Amino acid sequence: MSAKADLFQSPDYFELDALFTDEHRLIRDAVRTYVKKEITPVIEKYAQDAAFPEHIVKQLGALGCFGPTIPAEYGGGGLDYISYGLMMQELERGDSGVRSTASVQGSLVMFPIFAYGSEDQKSKYLPLLASGEWLGCFGLTEPDHGSDPSSMVTHFKEEADHIVLNGAKMWISNAPFAQVAVVWAKDPSGIVRGVIVERGMEGFSTPATHNKWSLRASATGELVFDNVRIPKTNILPGVSGMKGPLSCLNKARFGIAWGVMGAAMDCYDTALRYAKERTQFGKPIAAFQLQQKKLAEMITEITKAQLLNWRLAVLMNEEKASAQQVSMAKRNACSVATQICRDARQILGGMGITGEYPVMRHMMNLESVITYEGTHDIHLLITGMDITGINAFK
Ligand SMILES: Cc1cc2nc3c(=O)[nH]c(=O)nc-3n(C[C@H](O)[C@H](O)[C@H](O)COP(=O)(O)OP(=O)(O)OC[C@H]3O[C@@H](n4cnc5c(N)ncnc54)[C@H](O)[C@@H]3O)c2cc1C
Repeated sequence: MSAKADLFQSPDYFELDALFTDEHRLIRDAVRTYVKKEITPVIEKYAQDAAFPEHIVKQLGALGCFGPTIPAEYGGGGLDYISYGLMMQELERGDSGVRSTASVQGSLVMFPIFAYGSEDQKSKYLPLLASGEWLGCFGLTEPDHGSDPSSMVTHFKEEADHIVLNGAKMWISNAPFAQVAVVWAKDPSGIVRGVIVERGMEGFSTPATHNKWSLRASATGELVFDNVRIPKTNILPGVSGMKGPLSCLNKARFGIAWGVMGAAMDCYDTALRYAKERTQFGKPIAAFQLQQKKLAEMITEITKAQLLNWRLAVLMNEEKASAQQVSMAKRNACSVATQICRDARQILGGMGITGEYPVMRHMMNLESVITYEGTHDIHLLITGMDITGINAFK
């Protein structure tokens, strides 16, 4: 068995392909081909070395993976949400870190500039970000404020045509390599505003976060603001309050729901192939009921999540999807993908813990993905509040 070759065959048990247009399939296949050619051959080494493959940023830009739903006049793809979902699925089939880079850039940096930025901000930043010339990051989480970001303490005061920003953000994807950060901070009256901060501004630093066991090929860091003087024209004029960051997270969570199924599909496909080829007690291990149970449950959960994601994308295209529906899809997909990767790892036995196969890398990555952009528990509380009308957060 050649472990290193990318033999991925996409599972499609309920003929979902028939729900996609030719354009959707073309887009998906272009990203799938890119991942086979440029990501699979190198990603294991980057993950083992805990290094960020910086060279892929421009490749992802050229492929149209940054801001696919943003209009073409700003450098985006002008595509629909099924296209966006398929792109994220294929990227995460390669690695959750690669998909995270694209999610952050498109949904968390380009989207707020597109939706809430001035014309000057849009024309300055969006083409640079769409092409991958610049990498961006999104600063919401703080050391003491994760699930409850509205309690953030990062704040600014106003001085003539400038603001002066102080505070710190933690766990920020892309931070160590980003040229620009969309940062959420409180104005002098305590209202959350979006501020565009550029690398090189005095008092702004981005120390890297080390020793992660998860998303090792994604760069994570802090954002530290020590009296950073920023022109007032860098404030996003079109939004105030938590609606700003939450609307961005809504877009990114949609991408995660599709993305993690890529990791799950890769683990299922790897485990199925391995189970048919690996022989113990004189039979392929796929012949044992215990292993068939795992594989059958995997494909069932993959299929259910694919259908939920597809329906969510249709609702997104029709601008009818609620934040709560996005929340449910993110939570469900992360939960089933995490279980699928754990079961796949078991099917591979000892080989499952090695870098010869992608399974343990995906499994460890998903421990971050099930936590970031709203934890598993927080999304359950969102659904709970939606169906009962009762807030159980506090
Ligand atoms: C690799 C990685 C990348 C990230 N990238 C970014 C990024 O780019 N930008 C950004 O802003 N953030 C980012 N994050 C931060 C991420 O969004 C937070 O980690 C997440 O929101 C959870 O916050 P926390 O870690 O502070 O956990 P906490 O909020 O401290 O939660 C700890 C536990 O308590 C539970 N909990 C909290 N409140 C409640 C409640 N009311 N009821 C029941 N249980 C509760 C949670 O579910 C969790 O299990 C990233 C995180 C990681 C790990």
